[in-house]
Amino acid sequence: MKNAIISGKIAHSYLLSGPRGVGKTTIARIFAKALNCADLKNGEPCNKCNSCEEITNGIHPDVFELDAASNRGIDDVRAVQDAAKFFPIKGKFKFFIVDEVHMLTQQAFNALLKILEEPPGYLIFILATTNPEKIPATIVSRCQRFPLQRIKINEISAKVKEIAKEENIKIDNESVFLISKLGDGALRDALGVFDMAVSFCGNNIIYSELKSFLNIPDKDIYFDISGFIRNSDVKNILIYFNDLEEKGFDLQTFFNGITEHFRDLLIVSSTSNPNLLDESDSFREKYNTESKNFTADQLQRILKVLFEAENRFRYSSNQKILFEALLAELCTLNRDVKDLSELISEVTSLKKKSLIQNNIKPAEIVNQNLTPESEAAVTKKEKGITEKNDLTESEIPESKNGKSETINVKKESGEKENSDNTNVKETLIIQKLKELFDVVEYKTD
Ligand SMILES: [Zn+2]
Repeated sequence: MKNAIISGKIAHSYLLSGPRGVGKTTIARIFAKALNCADLKNGEPCNKCNSCEEITNGIHPDVFELDAASNRGIDDVRAVQDAAKFFPIKGKFKFFIVDEVHMLTQQAFNALLKILEEPPGYLIFILATTNPEKIPATIVSRCQRFPLQRIKINEISAKVKEIAKEENIKIDNESVFLISKLGDGALRDALGVFDMAVSFCGNNIIYSELKSFLNIPDKDIYFDISGFIRNSDVKNILIYFNDLEEKGFDLQTFFNGITEHFRDLLIVSSTSNPNLLDESDSFREKYNTESKNFTADQLQRILKVLFEAENRFRYSSNQKILFEALLAELCTLNRDVKDLSELISEVTSLKKKSLIQNNIKPAEIVNQNLTPESEAAVTKKEKGITEKNDLTESEIPESKNGKSETINVKKESGEKENSDNTNVKETLIIQKLKELFDVVEYKTD
């Protein structure tokens, strides 16, 4: 748009799309200022001349702003049509800035299209929208399109710092991050929080004061929560949660915070790159450390439960109880689950041991080392183990009378105990595997 201003190649209609608060109408105003400015420098308006000041104050006779969210009907567009017929009063151009243009009615769009089809030379439309897909293609095709993106957190931070410096306000880095983050990609929102922060903290914004004023749970809380979950500590997570709840934290914010926390852990655990997080350096380091306490599998399971609870949570009439149940569920989630490959290798090594003790040739063991490539294979293997286990059990009395006597003679009693322990452990693991696959065992007499 700056190039258009410098080169003088001005289109008659522009479409600025993008999320709320990224500066669509601000850009539209700057554009209008630049094209009417008495003292334009390198495509930038001076912000000082009469025309610039009038646009800043919203009283320039040639710049019209229309909010389509509240003026969406045919009459409103007809008024624009009428106004468009007259030459600009002061400058070379007449501007219509239409915000949330997707809200116009079909009739209004048709009327607008008529103007856009044959616009007088002095007329410039700047359409802004958060939902460009709702605008008829006939309109879009007549506009120069500029899709705007969410503003990155470090860009918002830089702006917040800049403003703080200009206004002589002391602010610590953690506060800058918190404010920028609350902006959620929108500079306008972040600056709104900054204003609030200034009115509360004065000229010295300190993180601890700011977060208690905004009543936002401290990030450390989420590390405590993931600590309880990691240790399967249902009792203390519930006590901890009740304390927090009494402090009056908004439960929805808290829920989103937990989800984001585990998302961040998953990112670091999967990529080993904490710099991908929108966090201050000290918290990046914390995420790096904490992520090593979870496997990616565990984090995915936790996130799955959180996402499944999300809708239920939003519409629940008793969020507190739901929250407690959810936290308890997260605590038990990892306690009962063992990594499958770990179990299988344990079973295999135990089997080898017990087969050697039963004088079975190593070749047969190798054949039984199936790799669990599919669920079917795992089930097959699991069945194999079950059968083998049954056999071993039924063979035990025979063995005691038969060939294993020789083994018993050779072995010390300590070693015999050892093999009994091994059998107990193996039975436990098999039991676990059966539970895992929900296997029902049929016994015939
Ligand atoms: Zn100016």
